[in-house]
Amino acid sequence: MIPFIARNIFRFQETLLGRPSFQILHELNKSQWWSRDQLEKLRSDRLNVLIHTAYSHTPYWKALMDSHKITPADIRTVKDLQQFPLLNKDTLREKREQMVWKEEGKRVQLVRTSGSTNEALEFYTSSSREAHINAARMRGHEWVGVRRGEKEMYYWGSPVELSKQDKIKRFRDFLINDGLSNGFELNKDRVQEYVSHWMAWKPKCLFGYPSTFVLTVSMCRDMGIDIGALKDRGLEVIITTSELLSDVDRNLISKAFGVPVYDSYGLREGGLMGHECDRGTMHCMDEQIIFETVDPETLEPTACEGELVVTNLVGRAFPIIRYRTGDIVTLSQKKCACGRQLSSIKISGGRAVEFIVTQTGKWVVGYSFIYIARMVKGIVKFQVVQEKLGEIQIRIAVDARFPENGKNQVRELARQRLNSDDKILVEIVNDIDPAPSGKYRPVISKVAEQLYKERSFS
Ligand SMILES: [Zn+2]
Repeated sequence: MIPFIARNIFRFQETLLGRPSFQILHELNKSQWWSRDQLEKLRSDRLNVLIHTAYSHTPYWKALMDSHKITPADIRTVKDLQQFPLLNKDTLREKREQMVWKEEGKRVQLVRTSGSTNEALEFYTSSSREAHINAARMRGHEWVGVRRGEKEMYYWGSPVELSKQDKIKRFRDFLINDGLSNGFELNKDRVQEYVSHWMAWKPKCLFGYPSTFVLTVSMCRDMGIDIGALKDRGLEVIITTSELLSDVDRNLISKAFGVPVYDSYGLREGGLMGHECDRGTMHCMDEQIIFETVDPETLEPTACEGELVVTNLVGRAFPIIRYRTGDIVTLSQKKCACGRQLSSIKISGGRAVEFIVTQTGKWVVGYSFIYIARMVKGIVKFQVVQEKLGEIQIRIAVDARFPENGKNQVRELARQRLNSDDKILVEIVNDIDPAPSGKYRPVISKVAEQLYKERSFS
């Protein structure tokens, strides 16, 4: 499809869904060049509206503000926000129905995420919130040279998404120039198939997890496939997401494909929070989100590295105020050579290798297991552990909704996912502790870590 037409089809789809995504993109493309004072003014205005909305339309935030003796008029600047206590995932889970303003606008609906943590979470989104996220993503992609409508290959997938890969969705994706290759389960045959498909389809951009790209590079090297040839077929850039992108992996991917690699950072419940510009700075979406860091121990605000706390300025149907993300970051106001006044964020923490390796030599992306938590009721936390080849332990923390045969259901779903004879043990535990970094790790595989270290993927 010609990019110009694909772009307009996407625009039409957004309009049908009540999302003014392109209008917001237009505004974002202007505000990114504003002075810091202008940006702060916009943020304060939006914060003001958000706090008033939360107070007038949601019982949870009204009660919280009353009990902390905060009136909406007190919160005028970003600094004033610190009067609010921090919002935890557990609170969001328990009080969700008291936090939503269902009359805010179009399509206020419940979505379920499991994202990069092993905790299932349900929250509300709306057309306007989704439009802001889409616009932020389009802007981020434009920073590195990809305009909506140009061919982009999504190298990931979820069982949910793939099962919806019916004719209509395929046709729609074709119309808007989005491609999808399932990066959740990889082996050499599949990788070979994908690379030939990409050679024929000619994407300008590949989008996916760093670990999936590293694995692909190594498998191609083993098979003698030159993925650098994709560059001659129009590939210009790779954008990664969801995991920490280390310098080593960035260089490895970039060298093999012969194109630059840029990273983006988002959280389903927080929105798209950061995207790298062509100078390699991960800029914050300052127009949409207020970023703070707190000391993970004392929870006091800190200017150094700390846990990221976010306030979403554009999600009025479901106000998120001072939400603890669990991610350890450093924020900075240092000016970027690109000239944009947006602040920047650096994500810290060790690299998590998010694969399970089966006896048959298949690498299954850890995130894909998390979808099991969506399919069986009552799973609150979830962790997959692989100590040795051929055996996988699944630990789950559950609540009262967990069905009697739930363990069998989990085992069966995991077996389908792995599609091999590996032994699967399901264990119910009281709680799952986060890693020392404070971040939950949904998948821990000693096998994958070892093979990854040796760069041995065959
Ligand atoms: Zn920049």
